[in-house]
Formats: sequence, C-alpha cells, structure tokens
Amino acid sequence: MSVINQSQVESEKQTHPEPILEAKNLRKYFPLHQSNPLAEKHFVHAVEDTSIALYPGRATALVGESGSGKTTVARMLARVYDLTAGTLYFRGEPVHLSHRAAVLRAYRRHVQLVFQDPFSSLNPIHNVRYHLSRPLRVFGHAKSKKEVNEQVMALLNKVSLTPAEQFIEKYPHQLSGGQRQRIAIARALAAQPEVLLADEPVSMLDVSIRLDVLNLMLRLKDEEKLALLFITHDIASARYFAEDTLVMYAGQMVEGGPSDGVIQQPKHPYTQLLLSAAPDPDRLGPDGKSLMTLPARGEIPSLIRPPNGCRFHPRCPHAMPECRDHFPGRTDLGGGHWTHCFLYGDGGAQSPIIVTKAPSRMKIEGQNGFETPNEKKQENA
Ligand code: SF4
Repeated sequence: MSVINQSQVESEKQTHPEPILEAKNLRKYFPLHQSNPLAEKHFVHAVEDTSIALYPGRATALVGESGSGKTTVARMLARVYDLTAGTLYFRGEPVHLSHRAAVLRAYRRHVQLVFQDPFSSLNPIHNVRYHLSRPLRVFGHAKSKKEVNEQVMALLNKVSLTPAEQFIEKYPHQLSGGQRQRIAIARALAAQPEVLLADEPVSMLDVSIRLDVLNLMLRLKDEEKLALLFITHDIASARYFAEDTLVMYAGQMVEGGPSDGVIQQPKHPYTQLLLSAAPDPDRLGPDGKSLMTLPARGEIPSLIRPPNGCRFHPRCPHAMPECRDHFPGRTDLGGGHWTHCFLYGDGGAQSPIIVTKAPSRMKIEGQNGFETPNEKKQENA
C-alpha cells in the first residue's frame, strides 16, 4: 500500500476538474424532545455552515472525534437526514429536496451510503441473494431471474467473496464481520452509484481484516471511478486512503486540502491535536517541535449550547479574544490547503456567525422554497 502523493492528486484534479457531488453551507440542527411544549425549544447544533465537494475517482477523508458531525454530514449527503439549511448539487445541478419516493430513489441510484455497523445494516431474515438482488430490481439494472442471478454473482466476485456460490445462499449470521461489510459494500454497488459514502466502514471490524476491506474500497474507487467519502476518526490512516482530507470539529469544518499537506503540515491547532494522538516523530508543529508534545486539553463541547466563535477556543492553547466572538474565515495556505484559524493571515474574511441559539422556527431550503423539516429517516433504498 503506498501513500497517495501530491503529483497523483494534481493529475487526478486535472482529469476530473468538476465535483460530481457538492454541498454548500450545510447546516443541521436536531430539535431536542421536551416534555413541556411551552418551554424554550433547544436544538443540537450538529453541523454549521459546512461545504464539501467529491470528485470521480478520488477519495476524500472526513476526520474528527466522535460527535464532530461527520456522520451527520454523510447522512445529509445521502439524504437520510433533511437539511436544516444548505444546498446539494449533483453534476452541477441543484438536487431536488422532495421527499417523494421516486425522487429519493433517483438520487440514491447515484449516491449510496455504507453504514458503520455491518451487523445491523443487513436484515437477519434475508440471505445474501435477497440483499443484492433487491437493489438490482429497485434501480432497474436487472429484470429477469437470469440477469439478477448473473449480476449478484458478479457483485460477489467484485467484493472478493469467492467462490460466489458459497456465499449467495448464506444469511448474515453465517458470515464474519468482514464478509458482512463486503456484502454491505456489494449492496451499495448494486445501485451502480457514482458516489459512495462510507461511514467508518471498518471501525467495527477486527483489526486484522480492516486493511483488506479498506484496500477493497480503494480498488473499487479506482475501477468504478467512484467519488468516495471515507469517514474516520483515525487521521493517520487518511493519508494512505484519501487524496484529500477534511477535518471537522464540533460541527465546523476547520481544515482541508491534499492529505499530504494536511497530515504532514497540519495548521489548525485541532488537526495538530488529533495528530498528536497518532505520534509520528517526523511530523513537526509550527514551532518546529514534535506534535507529540502538544497538550490534549478538554473534550468536545456540548452542541446544545456550543461555544461562540471558533468552537475550538475552550481547548485551544493559542486562543485569542477574537476567537471567542467570530468564526474565522477561510485562509488559503497554497496548494489547495486551507484552514479556518486566526493564527494564519487575518483569518480570511471573518465570518459574522456567532452561534448560540437556533431560530425558533427552523427552515429547510429546497428547490421549492422553504419547507417544514421532516426528521423522519428514509429507508436506505
Ligand atoms: Fe485557536 Fe483561535 Fe485558531 Fe480557533 S481560531 S483554533 S481558538 S487560534
């Protein structure tokens, strides 16, 4: 397995200059259940003003601690969660945010999600044949029994479950964790998507088989020219699996760019903190000292009442007065590397956002204007 280097990234960018899936200014607030209907409404401010672009044939790692909003972003991109605000674009066109089954199905034909837990994402009462043939029929890729059978066998071969005949009639409880996750990946591929969103796809697997599953996803990304979003809390592994890395903290995107730059030359203090948990003696902080010496202070804050300004300021050893009042704008650091931090330049164009409280009535921005939010989870077709 080799490290993805800058020249590969640049060559891919030249080959695929346009994102296939793009999200701009995503926001997600979850209303908290309250027994007293007259009490002030509270929300979990899970994702705030987050943008992301995914390119064909390229992997983007989205990293951060638990509770940073990574999974929420993936579920918004998959349209499992509604958007509180923001816009999705597919092939440059705004995505219709209707809840009609036909609209959702048309979207999920192109954008598929692989869940973290292979144990609960497969229905225990159905066998492998059912799990793989259903999306083939739903998305119209196979009609006759013979076609379905051929494609199910091809999918099993694609995810290296061979000989396919040995797996096709098995039930989830007869498979290992790694085999189940391969079935989950094959089920996503059955839709023939262009975008694959993988939410911590190996975190529940034994260490010994994680690398096999990750290498499988990378091979499929290259063979199928998939735009792959790889969600992980292991920032050190991102360099090996993704051309680009994005770092999220408490619902805000704080740093991003080519993985080599973000991981070898991290700029944002939170990225440095994350990397300090994965020591590398060759990696140095801005003061020339090893990142292993950075102190780990505090924990991710409550997102019901998140800190104002830069949400990292209660933990940041470099926090300044302005960090408490304003979220810094984006500063471009060169080579596609950027960060939101007042330590670099003037913090870009400062954002006036000071988030303390959700509006009393939340809105979803869609093609048809504003609609009432619907938190109902949609079945992952
Ligand atoms: Fe620290 Fe301020 Fe930068 Fe936030 S903006 S990471 S608080 S220096």
